[in-house]
Amino acid sequence: MSIQDRGDKMAEKQPDKKGLTLSRRDFLKSTGIAGLTAGAVGASSFINSKPAFAGEKTGQPIVDFTVKEVDQPKYKTFFEGSENLKRFHQANEAFKNKDLAKKNFDGKPWFVKYEETVMQKLTMDKPPAGYTLIDQTLANVSWTSYKTTNFFSWEPIGAANLKRLEVVGKWEGTPEENNKIVKKAAQMWGPGETGVAEVNEQWFYSHEANGTPIIFSDKHDKPVQTKEAWYIPKTMKSLIVMVIPMYEPVRKYVPSALAGGAVGTGYSLMAEKASKMAEFLRGLGYNAIPMGNEIGLSVPMAIDAGLGELGRHGLLVNPKWGSWIRISKVLTDMPIAPDKPIDFGVAEFCRTCMKCAENCPSESISFDKDPSYEIKCPSNNPGMKKWYVDTWSCLTFWTENGAGCTNCQGICPYNKPHTWIHDVVKGISAKTTVFNSTFAALDDILGYGGTVDENNPEEWWKS
Ligand code: SF4
Ligand code: SF4
Repeated sequence: MSIQDRGDKMAEKQPDKKGLTLSRRDFLKSTGIAGLTAGAVGASSFINSKPAFAGEKTGQPIVDFTVKEVDQPKYKTFFEGSENLKRFHQANEAFKNKDLAKKNFDGKPWFVKYEETVMQKLTMDKPPAGYTLIDQTLANVSWTSYKTTNFFSWEPIGAANLKRLEVVGKWEGTPEENNKIVKKAAQMWGPGETGVAEVNEQWFYSHEANGTPIIFSDKHDKPVQTKEAWYIPKTMKSLIVMVIPMYEPVRKYVPSALAGGAVGTGYSLMAEKASKMAEFLRGLGYNAIPMGNEIGLSVPMAIDAGLGELGRHGLLVNPKWGSWIRISKVLTDMPIAPDKPIDFGVAEFCRTCMKCAENCPSESISFDKDPSYEIKCPSNNPGMKKWYVDTWSCLTFWTENGAGCTNCQGICPYNKPHTWIHDVVKGISAKTTVFNSTFAALDDILGYGGTVDENNPEEWWKS
């Protein structure tokens, strides 16, 4: 299917939203919620609820009445089979997979094909809006901190003064104090939410992309990278995970190079935050390994750290920022009390929502109501019952589009601004699945379902 065909198909799926407005009273009437008793689903209490503060988790305002802490992550209680997953070889992921390169990219790395498309668009008489030289250049330079620094160094990089430790010794806080300290530190480095998990070795790659094994070792007391192997001391048992919201005003222009600028900016913030956290820990006398998307799988780590749930699109859904986020993480031997996983009804909502699947231009996201064991491409890690995503067709679309996509991240109803109406929807969907399909439709009616078909990226430059 060509990009044009895909665009037409997506446009067909977009409802006509022109001139539609919905008052609070209309909304409640349209869903039938206004007449419900509190006993049925607790709806009245949600409608009357005010956003509360979850100070003990983040110190930041968050609509926490929809979120409950649970003993087991949802990948164990809603999905099944996570214990079957083997540690993943990073060379199997779509970006690195040689079979995919042979099949769809003439045997070259994906980004070579991608750049050919970028140049095709740039040399048109009138490059498409969102794919012009200013858009593409903004997208590229937004990655600066991620791509041009040593922010992910396993060694100290000189920001913290380690000589002081020779005199005063390491910081010795209780695990509970340390949980608070790392979260407060992260708050200073920009918006986001931080959680802590106990290390689960299962989520770490067995090998990095070039084939070097990643080994948890009881013979090392410092993290070491050699040509033969990367060694992580088994004493590094605490995993700090940071969710970073992406720049919101360009979300409605997905997929485009302009929206890709938000992705690059998110990656740069990942690098900066992970690096600062690692140096902070080193400065307090502990080992630290900062990680972006490397070393291990960010989504299950973030779930373990109480930062969200797994969505149909295979990504994290965070209660405050939805899916318009990035994730970085830091492994350390500082003893830190872990947070609990959370449940706010996402997996159940995904069963009927399907907005990410409907708006995926490469049809990479499952429309199955329920999760299954069926993998969708050779880059999937088999053995778990979930909604697998065809990452091969996804990345192939990127190369044909000349920009990353992020439609699935941009369209998710959990992203929406913190208006009372979305808080009500999130609150109710955390308690009952009865209204989920209605809510997904309302997301369109309310005018949040738009894509680049309806939003002109030139508007952002002129705003
Ligand atoms: S990023 Fe990939 S999976 Fe997500 S909507 Fe785009 S093509 Fe589909
Ligand atoms: S768009 Fe809908 S189905 Fe997809 S992850 Fe978000 S809530 Fe789930």
